Amino acid sequence: MKLLNGKEVSAKIKEDIKKEAAEFTVQSGRKPHLVAILVGNDGGSETYVASKMRNCELVGFESTNIRYEADVTEEELLAKIAEINKDDSIDGLIVQLPLPKHIDPEKVTEAIDYKKDVDGFHPINLGRMQRNLPCFIPATPYGVLLMLDHYGIDTSGKHAVVVGRSNIVGSPMSILLARNSNPGNCTVTLTHSRTKDLKAEVLRADIIVAAIGKKNFVTADMVKDGAIVIDVGINREDSTETKSGFKLYGDVDFDEVSKKSSWITPVPGGVGLMTIVGLLKNTLEAAKGTIYSG
Ligand code: NDP
Repeated sequence: MKLLNGKEVSAKIKEDIKKEAAEFTVQSGRKPHLVAILVGNDGGSETYVASKMRNCELVGFESTNIRYEADVTEEELLAKIAEINKDDSIDGLIVQLPLPKHIDPEKVTEAIDYKKDVDGFHPINLGRMQRNLPCFIPATPYGVLLMLDHYGIDTSGKHAVVVGRSNIVGSPMSILLARNSNPGNCTVTLTHSRTKDLKAEVLRADIIVAAIGKKNFVTADMVKDGAIVIDVGINREDSTETKSGFKLYGDVDFDEVSKKSSWITPVPGGVGLMTIVGLLKNTLEAAKGTIYSG
């Protein structure tokens, strides 16, 4: 078993981003700038946004966190997004999900200028991704591709089984792995909670991407010998053993599955760190105007 080490790969790519950001800053007289909007006080969301902001600072970006109480109106939020869309000093804008129930996430996603949509959730970016055109790719699947690329893993012709079909992970992952690109060129099966005999589907996989949100869901009896296993899951459980008061678990039973897999990502220390890298790369591209100019 070999480890797909998110800590090592993310550190290396962040060094490259830092150099490029410094060059951009010298040439343009300003730093790449990411704005994150956070609504309410969800603990997980606060941790994710704080980590995104911290990583922006680390690579030499400017970052701004705009916070709203959970009772902010949809109109107020949309007005702020419209204001940011027009602000040339801001390159990327993300609105942390989930949002309170009275705010329509689809409306919010579509309100963001697709040229600043560094989360890659806007339908224009999703459509362009499907057609293999330059676009912002959702950060988590982008991070997975960067990881596979870093280790030189040849995915061409392999059978990939993605478990989970969310808009932010499973669904774009399945599109990206099927594209005529490298990494890509896989034969893809996209599975979900209505899939019949999930175990039989996963057992056929050369590459498994688990994005379910259930601790240790993928067990060793579901995994073929030599499979490449990408664990996207982040499941938090209270713990007295850690300083933070919680422990993170993936969607894959790492201890048992790692005995059969050829490559595997740990949790923590795997895909989560690569997601941040995906977001940073998108923000840099937005600043440089290499995907969309003007
Ligand atoms: P969602 O809850 O949006 O989607 C979960 C998917 O899993 C759904 O498509 C669901 O199917 C499917 N599913 C649930 N139960 C089963 C089951 N018993 N059998 C088969 N499929 C099932 O989750 P996300 O995609 O947002 O996140 C998935 C995991 O990844 C979570 O742990 C999340 O915390 C983590 N995550 C990690 C990130 C990172 O940076 N590493 C970033 C984003 C998420 P159906 O559609 O039928 O309901």
